[in-house]
Amino acid sequence: MDDVRFAVIGAGMAGLACAHELARADAKVTVFERSRGLGGRLATRRIGQLAFDHGAQFMTTRSRPFGRYAETALRAGVLDAWRPRIMEDDRTWPAPIEDWWIGQPGMSALVRPLARNIDIQGGIAVHELIPSQRGWELQTDSGRQNVTFRAVAVAVPAPQAFALLGPHGRSFQHIGGVRMAPCWTGMFAFDPPIDLGADARRWTTGPIVWAACNSSKPGRPQTPQCWVLHASSGWSRDHLDLDAAEAARLLLQAFEEGVGHKLPTPVHQDVHRWRQALVEQPLGLSCLVDEETSAGACGDWCIAPRVEAAFESGRSLAHSLLSMAGLSARVTRP
Ligand SMILES: Cc1cc2nc3c(=O)[nH]c(=O)nc-3n(C[C@H](O)[C@H](O)[C@H](O)COP(=O)(O)OP(=O)(O)OC[C@H]3O[C@@H](n4cnc5c(N)ncnc54)[C@H](O)[C@@H]3O)c2cc1C
Repeated sequence: MDDVRFAVIGAGMAGLACAHELARADAKVTVFERSRGLGGRLATRRIGQLAFDHGAQFMTTRSRPFGRYAETALRAGVLDAWRPRIMEDDRTWPAPIEDWWIGQPGMSALVRPLARNIDIQGGIAVHELIPSQRGWELQTDSGRQNVTFRAVAVAVPAPQAFALLGPHGRSFQHIGGVRMAPCWTGMFAFDPPIDLGADARRWTTGPIVWAACNSSKPGRPQTPQCWVLHASSGWSRDHLDLDAAEAARLLLQAFEEGVGHKLPTPVHQDVHRWRQALVEQPLGLSCLVDEETSAGACGDWCIAPRVEAAFESGRSLAHSLLSMAGLSARVTRP
């Protein structure tokens, strides 16, 4: 099996779920990740004592495989339950029927059990996939990799996946129909803490759709008290080109309008612009794979804007690639 070597591009939940499944079938896998850290949109920004989960806020588990993965993560100490008091507009919300799970100590930790024993090349962005007689070669920002991969799994957001795979097969043209929405995220810390009557607030109208007290999540620093705000897709799209200082000012102002009163001056403020945050129009398939070229794509954008969808898509692509390479997936517990 020495010659069966897979490349996975992207170390978010989809890419690592794919790599983990390939490795469980004893295939050789190398993951290339543009950032230094793992997790993609499962992200935590730390500044001194402060911590903000500024991407995904929590995850739910609806399928058995993902439920089993959550059990593994719980045993590994990287998963915890979050039971916030919730308000929508001005009404208190009943507790969610599903459990809300968070990463420990931050959201990115949720992928750690998948990354164990996987060869991950961090800080390397893949710019081009080059077909060769024996498979695929990769052009990266640190030059051309001198390895040929039998198959390649692209696990990056839809527009980047389209740029990499678009030139290589008709089936990848479908990625062009996927639409992802941006999200401006505000990160504000207050000292002394503020009391908004809930740990998480949602709004059905206005620029802000979500505000969560990060400090209310287990294992997060309590003081200064950290809040994460998410702007709506529409507002984020209309204000995509704002500079950071103006975005912070407008987000804080909209937050004050949402809660109905002035807030103390934050002791820290920061913003992040997610250009590809949430899937608005998914592909409608669990993954995309092209048998002729031995390449495929996965990600939340195949199914739905959820962490679990990314996991499901990554596993699905791994199973397709393994069967194309004549290998079988392990059916035992992860
Ligand atoms: C603001 C926000 C809030 C959200 N809230 C929730 C929530 O509460 N619950 C929930 O279930 N989901 C939520 N989501 C969605 C969830 O985060 C995603 O569904 C999931 O994390 C997507 O995983 P992925 O692996 O498909 O993609 P990503 O996490 O985007 O991973 C892709 C990876 O590929 C890397 N990459 C990109 N291009 C290249 C390249 N050329 N070369 C190498 N590497 C590359 C990126 O750096 C990244 O690490 C939220 C997302 C955002 C942004």
